[in-house]
Amino acid sequence: MCEEVLPNLFRLEIPLPESPLKYLNSYVIRDSERSLIIDTGLNRKECLDAMQTGLRKIGVDLDKSDIFITHLHADHFGLVAKLTTDSTNVYFSRPEKELLESWEGFGAMIKYAGKNGFPENELRAALDKHPAAKYAAEWIPELKVLEDGDQIQAGDYHFKCVTTPGHTMGHTCLYEPDKKVLVAGDHILIDITPNIQCWSDEQNPLMHYLSSLDKVAGLQVDLVLPGHRRLIMDHQARIEELKNHHALRLEEVLTILRRGTMTAFQVASLMTWDLNCDHWNDFPVAQKWFATGEAISHLRFLEDEGKVRREVDDKLTKYAFVY
Ligand SMILES: [Zn+2]
Repeated sequence: MCEEVLPNLFRLEIPLPESPLKYLNSYVIRDSERSLIIDTGLNRKECLDAMQTGLRKIGVDLDKSDIFITHLHADHFGLVAKLTTDSTNVYFSRPEKELLESWEGFGAMIKYAGKNGFPENELRAALDKHPAAKYAAEWIPELKVLEDGDQIQAGDYHFKCVTTPGHTMGHTCLYEPDKKVLVAGDHILIDITPNIQCWSDEQNPLMHYLSSLDKVAGLQVDLVLPGHRRLIMDHQARIEELKNHHALRLEEVLTILRRGTMTAFQVASLMTWDLNCDHWNDFPVAQKWFATGEAISHLRFLEDEGKVRREVDDKLTKYAFVY
């Protein structure tokens, strides 16, 4: 599936089999000199086929294309090595480049999840099968760093990089001020809510995410091109909805903690999730992992606001309501 959203700006639907996200939106700006591909798909055959078919249909040649990646998740970055030729510039943010190049696997995250009450063995088994591990890029091409405010041009489109930490620490959107278009990656989505996870006591990704929403709300935007699902017209209304969603989640977490001190895993098991399972125990492990990461991001936010207290011993980290 490919459509011309704006003159010479195409949306290619790259399928994500077995994923509730359904597909990735890859955007391609076609130009006779250098085309630009924004986000790629997983490193798997279905994605490569869809990408190659789409590019052929719109007449874009990989030998004359550059690639911009909004963030390091495998559904956006995974296919990059398969698309890169000797002349490809691959643009990426500095924090994510550093993270990818120093990546040593899920070990540290699994240990941290264990400290937060997550059964480590279950998680290790699930992550081996997870698309993030199974369909990641097998090698990493040279990455050209773009910083906040840097320009990237393709055809008639003059994009400005807008760093939007939250969904990931180096997440970057592209903004075209004359055409009032925002390529949003997973910063703003509709029908689904971007996942804000935290896997470190030193970080506060929800705080970053909420200020990144404000940063983008201040831009003049007529059309948002998100990384998944349908296009968004009223970006300010959607941003308000996302902010309200997190305000309600924060309230919910506080209400849960009034029952007693508990781990993030326990908090996650008591939060409401939009999933076809009646009981927490029936959740697939991957969903429990996402949910626990979300719970931690809300707990860390509340901790920095002084509303909850983190209590750490050698075995477990627990959170307590501050009266
Ligand atoms: Zn994504």
